Amino acid sequence: MVSLRDIPSVDQILHNPRTEQLLGLYGHAWTVSAIRELQEDLRQSVQNIAEMPSDEELINSLEAILEHQSQPSLRAVINATGVLLHTNLGRAPLSRAALAAIERVASGYSTLEYDLAKGSRGKRDMHASALLTRLTGCESALVVNNNAAAVLLALSALAKGKKVAISRSQLVEIGGGFRIPDVMKQSGAKLVEVGTTNRTRLSDFEQAIAEGASMLLVAHQSNFKIIGFTEEPTLEDLAKLAHQHNLPLMVDLGSGALLDTAKYGLAQESTVQETLSKGADLVCFSGDKLLGGPQAGILVGKNELLAKIRRHPLYRAIRADKLCLAALSATLLHYLKGEAEQEIPLYQMLSRSFEDLTAQVQRWIDRLQDGSALEGLSTVGGGSLPGETLPTCLFALKVKSPAKFTAKLREANPPIIARVQEDLLLLDPRTVLSWQEETLLTSLQTILLERKELS
Ligand SMILES: *Cc1c(COP(=O)(O)O)cnc(C)c1O
Repeated sequence: MVSLRDIPSVDQILHNPRTEQLLGLYGHAWTVSAIRELQEDLRQSVQNIAEMPSDEELINSLEAILEHQSQPSLRAVINATGVLLHTNLGRAPLSRAALAAIERVASGYSTLEYDLAKGSRGKRDMHASALLTRLTGCESALVVNNNAAAVLLALSALAKGKKVAISRSQLVEIGGGFRIPDVMKQSGAKLVEVGTTNRTRLSDFEQAIAEGASMLLVAHQSNFKIIGFTEEPTLEDLAKLAHQHNLPLMVDLGSGALLDTAKYGLAQESTVQETLSKGADLVCFSGDKLLGGPQAGILVGKNELLAKIRRHPLYRAIRADKLCLAALSATLLHYLKGEAEQEIPLYQMLSRSFEDLTAQVQRWIDRLQDGSALEGLSTVGGGSLPGETLPTCLFALKVKSPAKFTAKLREANPPIIARVQEDLLLLDPRTVLSWQEETLLTSLQTILLERKELS
């Protein structure tokens, strides 16, 4: 029988020679609090154990507690799901140049708000805005924390207390609680729903203007599609109508691609520059969706509108930080130089061919001496291009318990996130970054070996 009195005291554990090393690594206060946790675990389990663990075992447990507590909870993972912009896995990975730009700017001081030529205060807006003007043809640009913030800010600055007309088919919920009607309410704008779920005509907007709407809003149906008997006025017609009445047309593009996604076998989407040239006065989009950059909300459009937005107090609260601006500028530069496909991870992944992916899966099969190749689909995800998929080749492994196997994969370092389909474990090489491939295979090899030893 083990009794509570057999549990060693804090001092006893502290004086174990092996604790010395842990004290050096984690400090006194943290180690003591971990010892208390260990004692509590022992108290809970005293009735169920035949004898007290040895000192050696106790220190091992203490070490495990400390190691676990020192792991950051925000960790790098290997995304083998084939979802390119996986919202839960951090959306777009950054290019090397974007990472280097973050390091350059963050490791010391920078010209964040400093004008080198004048030797005086500068504006943080200018960094990305010069590039955005060149790329999209906009008059002016502004960067905030994310696109949800961009929509809220724009509506707050331009439409507080005013009526904003939007088609019923676009009262979308993006996920994570972002609902267009709720954001409009929060901004103080009055929502005027026009048309029906499946059909909205230009005359519906004309009616709303006649009834006092002072802005027209178009929101991208980012994560769903309405098919069948549908109708929406074109952007050109909406812009013409808005301008006849001297009203602004705002477009929440959501993804906001700068490149033609049709080139990769995906649906034709209006790019940011096309949306502006069709007459939108203000366009907002995310930095970490189809742009392939850092989390950001980007607003581009007419000088006059952006000047108003810049003056709103909310801008100060949600403006982009220097890390974001550094990474965003480096990402935009890839587009300007025409090297987006070579340098931006998202476009590298989008442009991989089925043949190339099949050859890669075959190499995995040869190396692991297990699994098989299976045709499947990668998806864009991240509320971008709904229902859009790309043919891919999957590495498929028949497993007895997919739940247990995926749990093992998540315990690997870095954790591997995979897909399951019935009794098949599926890994899509498209979203496994090239520098992670070796680690992925080594981890898989270890897990497969353990499985053989067990059976
Ligand atoms: C994704 C999305 C948002 C939100 O963008 P975040 O950058 O995630 O804040 C807003 N509107 C639309 C249409 C979207 O697709």
